[in-house]
Amino acid sequence: MLASRFELEFMSEQKNQSCDILVVGSGASGGWACKRLAEAGLKVALLEAGRPQSDKNFTEHKPPFELKYRNQAPEILRKTRPIQSKFDICNEYTQDWFVNDLEEPYTTPAGQPFDWMGRLRMTGGRTNVWGRVSLRFSDWDFKAASHDGYGEDWPLSYKDIEPYYDLVEKYVGITGSAEGLEHLPDGQFQPSVPLNCQETLFRNRVKEKLGRAVMPTRSANLTKPLNGRGPCHYCGPCERGCTTHSYFNSAFTTVADALATGNCTLISNAMVYKVLMDPDNSHARGVLYIDRNSCQPREVNARAVILCAQSQESVRILLNSATSQYSNGLANSSGVLGHYLTAHVRSAGGSGEFPSIRSKPTPEGGGPHKPLGIYIARFRNLQNAPPYGKFLRGFGYEGESATEFTWDAPGFGEAYKKALLEPRNTIDITGFGEVLPRWENFVELDPSVKDIYGIPVLKIHMSDSENERAMIQDMGDSAGEMLEAAGAKNIRTYANPSAPRWALHEAGMARMGTDPKKSVLNQFQQTHDVKNLFVMDASGFTSNPCQNPTLTIMSLAVRSCDYLLSELKRGAL
Ligand SMILES: Cc1cc2nc3c(=O)[nH]c(=O)nc-3n(C[C@H](O)[C@H](O)[C@H](O)COP(=O)(O)OP(=O)(O)OC[C@H]3O[C@@H](n4cnc5c(N)ncnc54)[C@H](O)[C@@H]3O)c2cc1C
Ligand code: SF4
Repeated sequence: MLASRFELEFMSEQKNQSCDILVVGSGASGGWACKRLAEAGLKVALLEAGRPQSDKNFTEHKPPFELKYRNQAPEILRKTRPIQSKFDICNEYTQDWFVNDLEEPYTTPAGQPFDWMGRLRMTGGRTNVWGRVSLRFSDWDFKAASHDGYGEDWPLSYKDIEPYYDLVEKYVGITGSAEGLEHLPDGQFQPSVPLNCQETLFRNRVKEKLGRAVMPTRSANLTKPLNGRGPCHYCGPCERGCTTHSYFNSAFTTVADALATGNCTLISNAMVYKVLMDPDNSHARGVLYIDRNSCQPREVNARAVILCAQSQESVRILLNSATSQYSNGLANSSGVLGHYLTAHVRSAGGSGEFPSIRSKPTPEGGGPHKPLGIYIARFRNLQNAPPYGKFLRGFGYEGESATEFTWDAPGFGEAYKKALLEPRNTIDITGFGEVLPRWENFVELDPSVKDIYGIPVLKIHMSDSENERAMIQDMGDSAGEMLEAAGAKNIRTYANPSAPRWALHEAGMARMGTDPKKSVLNQFQQTHDVKNLFVMDASGFTSNPCQNPTLTIMSLAVRSCDYLLSELKRGAL
């Protein structure tokens, strides 16, 4: 165990506080950073812009009729959360967990709408409401530039991160099935949730006719007890919390573990404004934050600062931390800070019905509700096949199935009642496509807009290139092809322009690399310019493969913390 250099001292509110390590943000990355470092004996201060999370806030079993507006009044949500409520996970149950879009805005240039959703203000960040799909990257992703010549390779390879994937998966609890795919490596899985009838039929026929891999979603929902957390009981709405802690939320896992060590102190409602530097500009000495309740500024000092505020938010902090030496953003001697923003395209897919399956629907609220469905692995531009030609990289699909009454049956009276009871068994798949990291997609500070705390906000510039447009078209066409192969009827496909982007998987903007002239971070997410400053969320991603990012975010954070510990041990920080 490392000896702590400083005791965490909390003096009067007006005075500064200090600790060994300061972590900003308590979501997927910040939770792991706190756990790893506090368990190693360091004194950690966790600064979180949101409120504390608690089981008392969880409403997964609360019926809508117990709510004031029966969860049926979107216009009321839109008054304070016009962006957040575009996705129905921000609803009457959960709206208070999300940022107030009017108090904490961002801007976009004319003609480039961007929906920055999933901005949480609770301990646990986005892991409170995430979809939990947990997939590994492979060297097909880390070394993509070497394969197709576009962009930069990551400064690490699969072998470097593999033990950390193992460690994180065992702790998080990922249900999944081993499929033996080189480009989607298997992990340390809990037993998978069985596929239902139409999912099984879809998987078998798509495999047989098209040779594509369909599997139960690899998901952070427990099927076996783990560390005091219960297995999932299939009630359904994970995005409203889980009193049995059966899905992974950093609030009741990593953060709770860190706090239990006695070495970590959570400072809630702490909106970090900027990183503070030593007078000689060589080392970060701490951060300045605004207390969201009193709106007063506060400082915390530390030996090292780790930003884990979610990719745009961490980059915003760096841009707001400009100094005389780093006039265009802290640790930005390369000039690439803010650039190479990526976020998956997910505006194409399809659905179909399986009338041959006679499963009977259960009335709303009854029966098990499987919180996960199917995943279709990437099949374009891979090994053992010539390049696809129409675009670079690839996409996967998330899919869900339903067994419902035929509510829109024609007719009325007795005939309608009869037709209504006919079961409708469907599959609906949505593509998630890789967006190439391009200089032209970037964030900057808007010089004319501040949030209610007086902090300059981001202006987000993002648009599709020809590569995304071609990929979106293929995502729609291929969805139709697979549903057709599976024998579905009433197939509907769509392929829409991605703007405004439904951004949930944003990455880049402070990318990792070996060359300090072309990147902000090294392979351990340490800034090239300021040795005791780290950024451990997805802003360090060199590219944004089509697999969902969070398993990789968490695994990288643990790896980088181990590096930080070794650097502290040898006195390099
Ligand atoms: C609806 C939804 C579904 C998703 N589904 C999936 C999925 O299926 N699979 C997957 O891999 N990923 C999914 N994601 C993405 C996933 O949630 C994120 O990748 C992950 O949570 C990011 O981790 P993070 O640590 O970077 O940020 P977060 O988990 O968002 O945590 C950041 C924390 O920092 C705090 N913060 C922000 N700014 C400041 C500041 N200035 N000062 C102090 N604190 C600050 C925030 O309040 C927040 O608590 C989904 C996201 C959403 C919204
Ligand atoms: S479906 Fe499972 S993981 Fe989701 S809230 Fe219910 S018990 Fe928890």
